[in-house]
Amino acid sequence: MSIIKIDNNNIKINTENIVYSKGYSRPSKSILDPNLYNKYKSIKDSFNLFEELRDNLLDECLNYMFSSVININENIYTLDGECYNLISFNESKFYNITNKLNCKYSNYIIVLNEIYTYPKIQYIYILSGYFENVRICMSKISNFIVIVCYNKLKNLDFILKNDLYIKDFNVKVDEVVIKYLKDDNDDYFRNIINLNDKITKKCESLSQLTNLNREICIISKYYKALIEKKCNMNCNCRPSNIFYSDLLECYICENCLVLTRFLTV
Ligand SMILES: [Zn+2]
Repeated sequence: MSIIKIDNNNIKINTENIVYSKGYSRPSKSILDPNLYNKYKSIKDSFNLFEELRDNLLDECLNYMFSSVININENIYTLDGECYNLISFNESKFYNITNKLNCKYSNYIIVLNEIYTYPKIQYIYILSGYFENVRICMSKISNFIVIVCYNKLKNLDFILKNDLYIKDFNVKVDEVVIKYLKDDNDDYFRNIINLNDKITKKCESLSQLTNLNREICIISKYYKALIEKKCNMNCNCRPSNIFYSDLLECYICENCLVLTRFLTV
């Protein structure tokens, strides 16, 4: 997991050079490994291990980037003392989000589930021409991405067609950004494939299955406490409270929810 920061780059977009298409863009080889992606795709639908943590993922990502996170209402956050407008972006067209980014606010948090297509990363890269900086942060727990756009310098001055998909903005994205993004995507796929393999093995035996439910429950509790910064540090971690998680490959104290690998030696 990395936080990718793109400083203002004065990038210019020429709407005449945009290539449109009638269908979705396919995932791009430059930002993911197709073999890993296909394997991940084949297990993704049945795999929502930490679904109950969905509502915590925004806080998780914001906590990586800001020391003070205050939720004012459904669409407004105060982050390190500055106001941000929250926008969800879960479509393949860029028309609506462009309008939303031209609201009165200076700072925006965009949430989305994935960046697998080249036009999407091109679009985020284009945004860095309109803000002082743009940061991309991925959740470590699930497929969830936060884009923080800081200090709008001017309104987005390009107009996109509403009725078509965009195949190529004809903008070249910095190779470093592409590399970080690809590493994060591939790491995430590998992690899910690995977890899925372990769970499939466990599901073969009934006794292991009971343990599995307990394990998932404890891991979810651990993640929640971690995100909400509620791990109880005043704990003696008695042996009876220590639980070995095969999925995370480490020990968790069920009482304070501190996770440790030291006990393995
Ligand atoms: Zn403890």
